[in-house]
Amino acid sequence: MRWERSRVAFERAKRVIPGGVNSPARAFGAVGGHPIVIERGEGCRLYDIDGNSYIDYVLSWGPMILGHAHPAVVSALERAIHRGTSFGAPTELETQLAEVVCRLVPSVEKVRFVNSGTEATMSAIRLARAYTGRDKIVKFAGNYHGHVDCLLVAAGSSAATLGVPTSPGVTHAAAKDTLVLRYNDVGQLEDAFNQHGHEIAAVIVEPVAGNMGCVPADVAFLRKLRELTTAFGSLLIFDEVMTGFRVALGGAQSLLGILPDLTTLGKIIGGGLPVGAYGGRTEIMDHILPVGKVFQAGTLSGNPLAMAAGLATLQVLEQENPYPELEKRSQQLADGLLSLAARAGIPVQVQRCGSMLTLFFNSQPVRDWDTASQCDVKQFAQFFWAMLERGVYLPCSQYEAWFLSTVHSEREIDQTLEAAEAAFGQLRT
Ligand code: PLP
Repeated sequence: MRWERSRVAFERAKRVIPGGVNSPARAFGAVGGHPIVIERGEGCRLYDIDGNSYIDYVLSWGPMILGHAHPAVVSALERAIHRGTSFGAPTELETQLAEVVCRLVPSVEKVRFVNSGTEATMSAIRLARAYTGRDKIVKFAGNYHGHVDCLLVAAGSSAATLGVPTSPGVTHAAAKDTLVLRYNDVGQLEDAFNQHGHEIAAVIVEPVAGNMGCVPADVAFLRKLRELTTAFGSLLIFDEVMTGFRVALGGAQSLLGILPDLTTLGKIIGGGLPVGAYGGRTEIMDHILPVGKVFQAGTLSGNPLAMAAGLATLQVLEQENPYPELEKRSQQLADGLLSLAARAGIPVQVQRCGSMLTLFFNSQPVRDWDTASQCDVKQFAQFFWAMLERGVYLPCSQYEAWFLSTVHSEREIDQTLEAAEAAFGQLRT
């Protein structure tokens, strides 16, 4: 496969955009080489500017559950665009989308739209702190909640796991109220609540982690989280930016039957346009301005194009209920990858929840960041390039989830497995 045009275009981008990308995950840093530059997407395929095509398992890092340029989304956008692109005033579209979200997501009675997942988690945390009158936040190592200062934090060296910044520019003051705990570790959770319970405003968690690769939480762990937050008067925030409308129409909370106090949403809710949202019980949400006193605003929040794309996407999902089919295809892919790797003698784990999955080059199941970080990332990088050469576009890091869309058919799964067989074979030699 030739990528000459991509190479030249990326060199040009690097002169005017830091690292040539507008989000670092796109830079192929973990696999080497340069990114391919995309011309267009259609269905489950991407086309690059060199004329190559790929089966896409990135799907814009999750949003494109209906595939690229789905006719219902395109025509909703066409209808909306002729009416003007932004008014900074209420529209009926935002209420329609809010009604759908409140109907579908079990714990959400009211929802506020923002412009990204990052804004959603940042705002939910501010609201939780205001509502409880407390400062401390608990997060889990290996979970990602966007680039919010107080969440760009890793566990410090002390037993109390007080947070230290993971990025220059995040102050110690911003990090000091964040406790970072091990995912799926009930004992550590109990200790943290015993020590700090009455100071904890909220616990934020990915109920199915996607940002260290796909690592579903144990149900017992999430139940304990629900129990402890309730007992200590802290809020439980499910970050469903990735899992919302992905693992089930009502998100992970509907699948697990565990209801958080606040939910953050993004990705699918915008149908490929920039949208985030946070929602929960009326009694909590009504603390936001203009009803309550918690400040949160946005010039483009509730943007009519973004609302139209999100609404069209959720309507298709609700009408067509593609989840059983997504489950079947994803299982086929997972089973196929496992048996091909076994045949090639390569130790891997395939972890999956609905249509998000990760192939881990790891000899033991991944439960938390400690086990995730033992993956053979060099082997992943080789596999990644071997797949790309064969027309399969995977996330360019071991620690990401792959996504399927409703238009990945049996044919694409077969083609992917054919490519994987050759790629695993290449790793052995
Ligand atoms: N929360 C989760 C679980 C995510 O996966 C992401 C992004 O990948 C975010 C929050 C941040 O969303 P955004 O990139 O839209 O700011």
